[in-house]
Amino acid sequence: MTTPTAAVLFDLDGTLMDHSTAAVRAVLECWPDEDPAFLERRWVELTESYVERYAAGEMSFAEQRRRRAKALARELGRPDWDDAQADAWFAGYLTRYQGYWAAFPDVLPLFEELAARGLRFGIVTNGDGAQQRAKLERIGVLARVADCVIASAEVGAAKPEAAIFAAACARLGLPAGAVLHVGDLLDTDARGAAAAGLTGIWLDRPGTGAAADVPRITTLADLPALL
Ligand SMILES: [Mg+2]
Repeated sequence: MTTPTAAVLFDLDGTLMDHSTAAVRAVLECWPDEDPAFLERRWVELTESYVERYAAGEMSFAEQRRRRAKALARELGRPDWDDAQADAWFAGYLTRYQGYWAAFPDVLPLFEELAARGLRFGIVTNGDGAQQRAKLERIGVLARVADCVIASAEVGAAKPEAAIFAAACARLGLPAGAVLHVGDLLDTDARGAAAAGLTGIWLDRPGTGAAADVPRITTLADLPALL
């Protein structure tokens, strides 16, 4: 017998918040004389790589920011930045990045619809709890999800580990079979959630992929049809 869905969990960056656009705009402003195509590609790559290493416990949140800034500077011909230069650069970047925080346009209509159906909400994110809550507040959904914001740094496990999904279900007081998780990363979000017993849904916003083992949508507007 299938358990009816009682709650929907969301990834944050790339799923609810357009992190990449914000990050790219900010880094282009910080290095206005450099090749924009190179900056866009490398900053996205470096960010993914360092955030993954941070989520895996290899370094602190502050350290991944510092190392990411130094790595980009090195590739732009400034190999000798010290910690203070890297931290100062990141502070300027962060102000610009925060200025571009915004929800994807399909987020608020979906939340309205799910709330009208009586569903509960949560967030499961690989990131720093304070920064992720600040993003949720900025994009206008913190009040909806406030009683279930699960950040990897705060539970000692990161997606795709089953423990972080189990922590979210425990916070909701629901069995995994009654909970759905939606995210933009096929392995980290959709398959990780499915392996933990939840329904994992892959949000493939670029619409470039195919996956036979988990449901795939290209916009959050298509989520209610799967419930
Ligand atoms: Mg994501």
